[in-house]
Amino acid sequence: METIQAVRGTRDILPQEVRLWQQVEASAREILGRANYQEIRTPILELTELFARSIGSATDVVGKEMYSFSTRGEQEVSLRPENTAGVVRAYIQHGLQTAGDVQRLWYCGPMFRYERPQAGRQRQFHQLGVELLGSRDPRADAEVIALAWELLQAVGAENLSLRLNSLGDPQDRRAYRQALVDYLTPLREKLDPDSQERLTRNPLRILDSKDPRTREIAEGAPKLPDYLGPESRAFFEQVQAHLQMLDIPYQLDPYLVRGLDYYTDTAFEIVSPDLGSQSTVCGGGRYDGLVEELGGPSTPAVGWAVGMERLVLLLQKKQGEAPPAPVEVYVISRGAKAEAQSLRIAQALRQAGFCTELDLSGSAFGKQFKRASRSGATWAVVLGDAEAAAGEVQLKHLPTGQQQTLLQADLIQYLASHSGQQCGAPKVMELC
Ligand code: ATP
Ligand code: MG
Repeated sequence: METIQAVRGTRDILPQEVRLWQQVEASAREILGRANYQEIRTPILELTELFARSIGSATDVVGKEMYSFSTRGEQEVSLRPENTAGVVRAYIQHGLQTAGDVQRLWYCGPMFRYERPQAGRQRQFHQLGVELLGSRDPRADAEVIALAWELLQAVGAENLSLRLNSLGDPQDRRAYRQALVDYLTPLREKLDPDSQERLTRNPLRILDSKDPRTREIAEGAPKLPDYLGPESRAFFEQVQAHLQMLDIPYQLDPYLVRGLDYYTDTAFEIVSPDLGSQSTVCGGGRYDGLVEELGGPSTPAVGWAVGMERLVLLLQKKQGEAPPAPVEVYVISRGAKAEAQSLRIAQALRQAGFCTELDLSGSAFGKQFKRASRSGATWAVVLGDAEAAAGEVQLKHLPTGQQQTLLQADLIQYLASHSGQQCGAPKVMELC
């Protein structure tokens, strides 16, 4: 029979890779927790209107990439393509703005975009992100950028560079948009087909095109920072001064625009040349208009999202896969009574904090011993009919082959005083 494969653009994250994910998540929990960011988990399914209103219907994400459908109750819903809109919806819905002036939130979870799958680009991917809501202080921008930088350094990503730009306020952006359209219109025929279409719908996005000819043309385009008003300019300068003070290196990139409509002022990306053409590991910026746009009180905000798959790719290239936590004790048994006792002994060992595997095969002792060695365990606990009847076990130290008889009641205490490594909670003195 033909086997069923994972859906195109989705992938399984197998145990050896999951360990890398867990390292990243643990670092994020620690680093963001220390900065008093609270984790939030919002639904994967949201009303389509949420994304149309926030991300903007002229964007590729909403216009072409969303998984949208109507449910039986005739609601138009979409799988979330990103999480800022969901977080802001939750922020408004639960009145989180009343809990204090500033809300610091983080999330991690799957996102969905119907894109052409390739290395570092999938249809189901994961983002880890932060949102700082309720401050227009340029220190907030510097804080979130510093956190992204610290997290990426802490997990061991190398060769990163931070690109920075300012998109100004909506008025600055309108003026720039016009200048860009004026520049590009005579060159329209030379642009790639997607960019030709964007010229009327979403011209800023042309700067983001990956087509080489379009890129060449874009390099002569007017520069966004030249269109900033005095207030946006001063704000941008302060953000930069804070980054300098924090010793965070950055490069100004006058053509950096973000894919989503809601950004204002600060926009940034963290990129790595080691990732080939999908080089952006982290993207973010300020979005002062979004909360109001979604019906909430006027609330400035800034945040970012790291693409987990791309980050994990970087880490895999550098350090390979992390080995699993070793099994410490392997429990071998044969015979009805011994097998019954083995289950209880294995459970007691785990509760005492030893990483324990129980052999369930019921096969000959020799075969079970082979599996014990293959597991990498330090100890084998062996029960046959004689041990079961006497309330004893044979304990074999696998690296040396030394074996001794112990009362079952003494096993845990003995192991606790003779084993260095542990994979679980601190060893608890508990008798079998
Ligand atoms: P790109 O230009 O690479 O399409 P984007 O501007 O669409 O990126 P954002 O919406 O800013 O990306 O998302 C933030 C981060 O999420 C990206 O920098 C990237 O690391 C990751 N990301 C976005 N789309 C995908 C995808 N389809 N597959 C894997 N990771 C993705
Ligand atoms: Mg994209």
